[in-house]
Amino acid sequence: MPEMELKAYVRDVPDYPKPGIVFKDLTPLWKDPAAFRSMVERMVSHFRESQVETVVAIESRGLILGSPIAYALGAGLVPVRKAGKLPWRTVKVSYSLEYGSATSELHTDAVAPGTRVLIVDDLLATGGTVEAAIKLVLHLQGKIVGLAFLAELAFLKGRERLLPCGAEIFSLIQYGEP
Ligand code: AMP
Repeated sequence: MPEMELKAYVRDVPDYPKPGIVFKDLTPLWKDPAAFRSMVERMVSHFRESQVETVVAIESRGLILGSPIAYALGAGLVPVRKAGKLPWRTVKVSYSLEYGSATSELHTDAVAPGTRVLIVDDLLATGGTVEAAIKLVLHLQGKIVGLAFLAELAFLKGRERLLPCGAEIFSLIQYGEP
């Protein structure tokens, strides 16, 4: 299923969660068996040779992609969660979003030094969310081999913001215009 077909399953929701934001609702894509399978298989085939040991998936929608990708790559799964959700000792970082601000946390033992990490989220917008996850993984001395997204709002230039981290940036669906 090529990119155009996957894109056809994404629903634009204007003015959600606040006026001026066009929310990319990915739930119709995940609901469709062929589209969901295609998403997972294309991600997995892209990173199959990257020797990923741990998938770091960003709560909450990143976990929907990250879990099957980790399983299929034979990697472990670690969640980056919002402040106060993880039960044990954490490292934390605050960041700003396309709409609002947030704090992300990762368990201090989630990534051992030198572990090959693939960071997964549903959508790349300004890059603030994944940049926070990058900081957490680097703080624990993980080696980031890739950043994977189902969708990328290319017009927000999140990719440029993430370039300094040096990891490959991969998305299945791109939007060039607002
Ligand atoms: P950012 O930090 O700006 O890259 O925002 C990315 C995060 O916010 C992802 O976890 C997305 O789930 C969510 N997000 C931001 N903008 C949108 C949007 N227009 N549609 C859907 N999700 C979005």
